[in-house]
Amino acid sequence: MTCKQLVERLYDFIQGELEEELSRHMQEHLDCCSHCVTYVKTYQITIHLSRRLSESPVPDQLLQRLREVLKKAENES
Ligand SMILES: [Zn+2]
Repeated sequence: MTCKQLVERLYDFIQGELEEELSRHMQEHLDCCSHCVTYVKTYQITIHLSRRLSESPVPDQLLQRLREVLKKAENES
């Protein structure tokens, strides 16, 4: 699994809606990729905060910004 694939399936992963096999692949990727661990943590905090602040879903703009953060982290490694 690549970082890009992980990011694409992250929402399902966090919601617990991913197939068992994919979920395992993601967990394995997270075990060896600190960038994605940081990304997942940021993502979870963002969702948590947005749920507390309002009932509206996470704005696309915010998700886009998170993706840019990950891309930047990848480029720096
Ligand atoms: Zn990764």
